[in-house]
Amino acid sequence: MLCGMGEFDLIARYFTRPTARAVLGVGDDCALLQPAPGTQLAISSDMLVEGRHFFADVGPAALGHKALAVNLSDLAACGAKPLAFTLALSLPRADEAWLAGFSQGLFTLADAHGCELVGGDTTQGPLNICITVFGEVPVVNGKSQALLRSGARPGDDVYVSGTLGDARLALEALRGAVILPHGLLAQARQRLERPTPRVALGQALRGIASAAIDVSDGLLGDLRHILRASGAGATLDTAIAINLIATSQSADWAGAGIDPERQLAYTLAGGDDYELAFTAPASARDAVQAAALQAQTPVSRIGRIDADPGLRLLDAAGAPMQRRYASFDHFA
Ligand code: ADP
Ligand code: MG
Repeated sequence: MLCGMGEFDLIARYFTRPTARAVLGVGDDCALLQPAPGTQLAISSDMLVEGRHFFADVGPAALGHKALAVNLSDLAACGAKPLAFTLALSLPRADEAWLAGFSQGLFTLADAHGCELVGGDTTQGPLNICITVFGEVPVVNGKSQALLRSGARPGDDVYVSGTLGDARLALEALRGAVILPHGLLAQARQRLERPTPRVALGQALRGIASAAIDVSDGLLGDLRHILRASGAGATLDTAIAINLIATSQSADWAGAGIDPERQLAYTLAGGDDYELAFTAPASARDAVQAAALQAQTPVSRIGRIDADPGLRLLDAAGAPMQRRYASFDHFA
């Protein structure tokens, strides 16, 4: 129950829309989806909790965008095509201005990916948003085309899409730990509050990438998940990494007093980037670039997979680095 507008009015007004791809959407006890013949359903959930994943004063449209974006990012990492999602929402009150903004941000991103809201749950309580997404992955000759964490092999190249580090830079600025010029803050904040899930790239990499993951907790930490699942190690060239990284240029960061050491930490272990980290055989370099071009998403080759377990970082001179970077862990 929610005070003011009733629960069912709220659902009808802000979260009920005609569906085109789903067989049945909001309004019954279950939604019905019909995956295309020869496909598997890819399913993933992500929860956003106030004070934990976002600040209480973040704009509702940005929050609607981000709640879905982080889920679409998981579909992207599996190479899945978005199909539908459900929304479990706990709200302190039925604030119409907030609901209008939130649903606008949510549906703008959903429409851009042809992903339909088919159901959910609405309750009163602390602000908490849990989305479950459903996507499709083709099965070819009996084999799933899903990209998994477990497929990296020694000799494979390691890549990352887009840019890293801006979201963490914005977070530190909003926490008051660094002071940024207005333009740089706006740019970095856009990456923190409105991440771009790499949905087209994930699908373009099917049959090319040997393993993939989305970067939510920081590049190194997420890459370690691939290494563990694949039973392999990796060597990364941090000099390449730092050059490619950050929408805002590293000169801007330096101008804002972020020293190279901190630039590298935000880049390698900042978190909230929602880029894809993936591996592919060296023989697939042209195919990877073609996939990147097709998806209009730049990718950078930053290292290689080794048989020797563990993650090794090389500095600009190619010498091993000693520094360790911790990635995000809710319970650490
Ligand atoms: P039930 O009591 O059977 O769980 P509800 O009364 O909670 O159903 O919800 C009624 C309908 O509205 C269901 O189809 C449910 O999926 C949908 N729904 C509830 N909350 C949301 C929401 N936040 N977004 C989209 N659909 C929702
Ligand atoms: Mg219910």
